[in-house]
Amino acid sequence: MTMCGNIEEEIVTMATAEQGQKPWVDALREEIGDAVYSEPQDLQAHGTDEGYRYENHPPECVVYARNKEDVVSVLRVARKHTVPVTARGAGSSLEGNALPVRGGISLDLTRMNRIISVDPESMTVTVEAGVRRKELNRQLREHGLFLPVDPGADATVGGMAGTNASGSNALEYGSFRDQVLGMEVVLADGRILKLGSKARKSSSGYALSNLFVGSEGTLGIITELTLVVRALPAVTASARTLFPDVKLAVEAAVKLVWQGLNLARLEMVDAECIRAVNRYKSADFPEQTTLWIEFHGGSEDAVADEIEVAKEICREVGAQGDMPVAHTAEEYESLWEARHHAWYAVDDYYEDQQLVSTDTCVPMAKLPEAISYTQNMMREYSMIAPVVGHVGDGNFHVFFHVAPDDEEGWQRLGTVMDGMVYKALELGGTSTGEHGVGIRKRKYQELEHGEALSVMREVKELFDPLGILNPGKVLPDA
Ligand SMILES: Cc1cc2nc3c(=O)[nH]c(=O)nc-3n(C[C@H](O)[C@H](O)[C@H](O)COP(=O)(O)OP(=O)(O)OC[C@H]3O[C@@H](n4cnc5c(N)ncnc54)[C@H](O)[C@@H]3O)c2cc1C
Repeated sequence: MTMCGNIEEEIVTMATAEQGQKPWVDALREEIGDAVYSEPQDLQAHGTDEGYRYENHPPECVVYARNKEDVVSVLRVARKHTVPVTARGAGSSLEGNALPVRGGISLDLTRMNRIISVDPESMTVTVEAGVRRKELNRQLREHGLFLPVDPGADATVGGMAGTNASGSNALEYGSFRDQVLGMEVVLADGRILKLGSKARKSSSGYALSNLFVGSEGTLGIITELTLVVRALPAVTASARTLFPDVKLAVEAAVKLVWQGLNLARLEMVDAECIRAVNRYKSADFPEQTTLWIEFHGGSEDAVADEIEVAKEICREVGAQGDMPVAHTAEEYESLWEARHHAWYAVDDYYEDQQLVSTDTCVPMAKLPEAISYTQNMMREYSMIAPVVGHVGDGNFHVFFHVAPDDEEGWQRLGTVMDGMVYKALELGGTSTGEHGVGIRKRKYQELEHGEALSVMREVKELFDPLGILNPGKVLPDA
């Protein structure tokens, strides 16, 4: 591989010069024919996502890759014509991660959706990158297994690797990176790497696959993943508790973690969020901060004991009212309903506004301070925005919302988001626990990583010397 200087400006110039004629689109058609689409609806759909609904950054063409050979072809043409290539899975990421902000090719992996092999004895699965997690879990269930990473949306495994997704189950099972045993990845220069193995651990060589997880398609295109999968828990039970405010709910969460219980999920939403759910679902959940606690275990008795200890801790901290417990699937659906509908309910509540869900993650003990600070800033800047958290990990999200043309509102959002991130960094945390850097968090990378950022730039140049892989993401402009 070669090193070279920053050539992003060059790409933009070349792509712009080629607009209108796009000889590279013809070159793509010659190589991979009907995998190439440039109908307006395809371009439009690939230029937007949930976090940028009112902005469109359309690619100049979309390739629905059918196999790794298509990926190799796309990269060959992209190299030759210096055209940006942005990988796309389900497009459910929230920080603009999959938007082709510099045009070029949106490389859609969703048709590479084969489950290549399931090995129930070794508890591993090998899949193409476009497999969606719900279909994978449907097939794994037949073997008594599941992939525990649950980012809410029906994401692809390639996209989850791209952002190192986690979600509510990460408390027990870790983030996506913790599930990856191996992968196949196509580099910008066309080489195909097979990384890792099916072994649970390895001390052999540099852990290159860790570099690709969380790199948001800026270092290579993942075509296959080998993942560790888990046994479906024999017993699951959840409790729902109410608190007078977010501060007490988070204090309870911290205590629950310190108690050393076998917690599987610890999820919080605030009263504002419950109000939105009540309106959206015509429900009457108590409009209070709500904390859900879930245990997975081997026996009813063990789980029941843990639930009782958890309830006691919550009561000591200030939980109010009954604490209903769900054991069956129906009870579970009803108990968790407000959490499961949070995003769509808030989206509906603030219709015609752009929802901006952003997250930070801090050391567990600092979570109450991080959330209080953010809420104080929201009050100071007259912003009402629901707070939701995978609080057992120290990870929380604010569902900001602003009308697309409210310039002053966007400025206030920017100020509060800056404050939220700077506080997380000051407390020893990170600018994003699970949504990734995408577009909006690039500006915090220097402060967060210091000198390590210069090494990240060198890594980027090593893997992608032409700067064609998802330019405009993760690393701030030099
Ligand atoms: C309602 C809702 C709730 C959510 N809750 C959570 C949550 O709790 N936790 C969480 O972590 N996320 C959450 N998300 C965000 C989202 O689901 C995750 O970011 C997910 O990982 C994105 O997967 P995707 O298939 O949609 O990928 P995309 O959005 O298509 O892509 C994500 C990134 O990965 C890159 N990429 C995609 N495929 C590949 C590939 N094959 N090779 C290399 N790079 C690739 C893309 O270029 C992009 O940078 C939520 C989203 C929504 C809409």
